[in-house]
Amino acid sequence: MKFVDLNKQYQHYKKEIDSQIFEVINSSVFIMGPKVKELEDKLAEYAGVQYGIGVSTGTDALVISLMALGIGPGDEVITTPFTFIATSEVISFLRAKPVFADIDPDTYNIDPNKIETLITSRTKAIIPVSLYGQCANLIAVNAIADKYNIPVIEDACQSFGAAFDNKRSCGLSLIGCTSFFPSKPIGCFGDGGMIFTSDDILAKKMREIMAHGQDRRYHHPVIGINGRLDAIQAGVLLAKFKHFPDEIKQRFEAGMYYTGKLNKIDGVKTPVIADKNTHVFAQYSIEVDKRDALVDGLKEIGIPSAVHYPVPLHLQPAFNYLGYNKGSFPVAEAVAGRIMSLPMHPFIEKTEQDEVVGAINDILKKI
Ligand SMILES: *Cc1c(COP(=O)(O)O)cnc(C)c1O
Repeated sequence: MKFVDLNKQYQHYKKEIDSQIFEVINSSVFIMGPKVKELEDKLAEYAGVQYGIGVSTGTDALVISLMALGIGPGDEVITTPFTFIATSEVISFLRAKPVFADIDPDTYNIDPNKIETLITSRTKAIIPVSLYGQCANLIAVNAIADKYNIPVIEDACQSFGAAFDNKRSCGLSLIGCTSFFPSKPIGCFGDGGMIFTSDDILAKKMREIMAHGQDRRYHHPVIGINGRLDAIQAGVLLAKFKHFPDEIKQRFEAGMYYTGKLNKIDGVKTPVIADKNTHVFAQYSIEVDKRDALVDGLKEIGIPSAVHYPVPLHLQPAFNYLGYNKGSFPVAEAVAGRIMSLPMHPFIEKTEQDEVVGAINDILKKI
């Protein structure tokens, strides 16, 4: 059994993916070009925004967004301590300061009630993360941000395709950033990402920053990076995007199938889908008391699982300098000790899910 079965997906769309890749090779336009433009337009329309800007990774999508907002030394950015490190790494990378707010114990997303007291004159952005494939409460986050005129960047690296209040992830705040890392809800065959916004000025700046700060060839009004998306990756994504709406349904059905079965087992907390949300189950994550023993027990019988994430960011050595301690964010710390993710992808079979659930039931009785 695979945790995410990318080969099975490839076999399903092989013809279309191969033909996209060979078109790019035949055209010899490998960097940006028409495939990237087509993908940007299609995904922007899907997300309900004006502009999509293809970039090299989800991490670069976040860096470029912060750079376009002019964020640098002395600035503070409020975000969650319970996420992949990229979310706050980019803040520190630009010599700004991550300021963490604890999470909601059910959705694992930033708790909007904990944001306002953290706002200072130095707060220059808020980055909520739509973790595991469910949007953060962006209505509440945007409302606080609007009150203080602070831009919001949704880290939607796990939530492309999800919706909140009938609007799609990446189109819910000023800026949305997603990743096309292979195992994300829509993944390419390498690294890739995209920034989404409807703001003309920001979109222009982001495009410049993404390509060495140039507005035309060899003219550089601002400092940028090499953050471009490859044409071959765009081709792969164009082929996969045709099937994406179906895959979202398959993911949701698989998630609900797990939940129905796992809810019958004592001591397992299944994912809570908050009001107005849909879930794309980038990860299907449960909470249990004896997490490490369960992970080991599954491993012994060949069932893969993963822990997203075992150590909250405020307790990572890289962020020691921020001065947080154990106990600074009790909800994030508690969840980090109990959470684990199960095999999940659009092509998972019910028989495989039954095997996972059966094994969890057996192991929990023994440990
Ligand atoms: C994957 C991920 C990123 C980074 O994306 P890359 O494409 O790997 O750089 C950022 N934030 C979150 C929440 C992620 O899951």
